[in-house]
Amino acid sequence: MTLRIYNVLTRQKETFTPVEPGKVNIYVCGPTVYDYPHIGHAKTYVNFDVVVRYLRHSGYDVLYVQNITDVGHLVGDRDEGEDKIQKKARLESALPMQIVERYTKIYFDNMDALNVARPDISPRASGHIPEQIAMVKTLIEKEHAYVVNGSVYFDVTSWDEYGKLSGRKLDEQKEAVRLDENTDKRHPADFAIWKAADEGHIMQWDSPWGMGYPGWHIECSAMAVKYLGTTFDIHGGGIDNIFPHNDCEIAQSECAHGEAFSNYWMLTGSLTRDGVKMSKSLGNGLSIIDALANYRPESIRYFMLTSHYSNPIDFSGDALEAADKGWKRIWSAVSSLRERMRNAPAGAADPAIVAIADEAAAAFTAKMDDDFNAPAAIASLQELTRKVNSLLSDGTAYSADSLAAIDTLYRTLGGGVLGIVPDDISDDSNGNREGDLLRLLIDLRNTARAEKNWAASDQIRDRLKAMGISLLDGADGTAWQID
Ligand SMILES: [Zn+2]
Repeated sequence: MTLRIYNVLTRQKETFTPVEPGKVNIYVCGPTVYDYPHIGHAKTYVNFDVVVRYLRHSGYDVLYVQNITDVGHLVGDRDEGEDKIQKKARLESALPMQIVERYTKIYFDNMDALNVARPDISPRASGHIPEQIAMVKTLIEKEHAYVVNGSVYFDVTSWDEYGKLSGRKLDEQKEAVRLDENTDKRHPADFAIWKAADEGHIMQWDSPWGMGYPGWHIECSAMAVKYLGTTFDIHGGGIDNIFPHNDCEIAQSECAHGEAFSNYWMLTGSLTRDGVKMSKSLGNGLSIIDALANYRPESIRYFMLTSHYSNPIDFSGDALEAADKGWKRIWSAVSSLRERMRNAPAGAADPAIVAIADEAAAAFTAKMDDDFNAPAAIASLQELTRKVNSLLSDGTAYSADSLAAIDTLYRTLGGGVLGIVPDDISDDSNGNREGDLLRLLIDLRNTARAEKNWAASDQIRDRLKAMGISLLDGADGTAWQID
């Protein structure tokens, strides 16, 4: 099987061919660090985490760059309004860089809690001012940009491919931005790549055009090129940033270097909450921290993967409960399997079991090779889990190697690729606490049975059954599974 990716740029599914065989250079637009990350961020970054994990699992040498925006992202999308970080600094009576440090730390803490692997490089915009100035200079030299009153604007009419990712035509944009009051721009759709700073602007740098700061879009172009080269493999981000941000990145990079920017564009669908788009004005945003207070991280990840990355998803209590149930079904099977492995007899792996493992691995890989279809890959793990549950209760004393063949699959695909199956039970505080309680109940039931107190032992089994948990009595002890 070969990997196929839906390329937003060409609007079709294509066979993935990297610039350099065996290597994948990927850039994903990172957060603007001025507030707590919300569950919409979690959707984007969990999905790209799985993309990167799967590419590595497939044998690619991946270089994953995800920026931190710490300057230049203005409140308005059309080069107007305050810098988001400076505004927050004013509200919190702090320095902009204090805000940046605080929310960068929170961002990474949240991502760690969700088991999102860190990018290889997390470059900051403020740490790459010379690279951005150099790129602005090139764009002026190539007559794709012009200087007015210390600011530099990209001339959208200088490149007829402008808007090719979102498919927006320049005429439509002129219509949409007619009310723009910035008279420095030659065309209303032109965008700032360098902004002149007034005295009150704390974050500003010297440039050939006077004191100023970079526009939001130029940072991604400059940093992607610096670390990944002028043409790289995959550019990712949330669909909300397709225009103007991603279209501007493409225009700047391709005009400055005369080469294709990213060969494949992958954009994640948006996340709604109870059917409504999350927004500051509605006050219906949910931070990752608040979500983690109510749901285990594995269930949140599982939920984020129940819809294809490019599709929208709706976050609701019911959806999270369903995801939690799905995750528990897998986890209880894995726990029982590992419990059985501890006391299992030695002996070669049963070919029938190896065949089950191979079949599950092939199904999983085929789904992931089809544009990273995680929901279908999860379904193949659930199918495996159904088979595992019947194996564990069929009364056969399977050898440790047989059980290990299946456990390896859960570790590599469920753990390594999807990040929802912890390696070690003790790594998972919630699951472990539940597991510990179940083991305590099983021990109490065994004591009751040894004392021939059938009423007590049946009561424990029946009450658990009523809660949807079955006890499986085997030759080597009792395991449990979520029905
Ligand atoms: Zn970006």
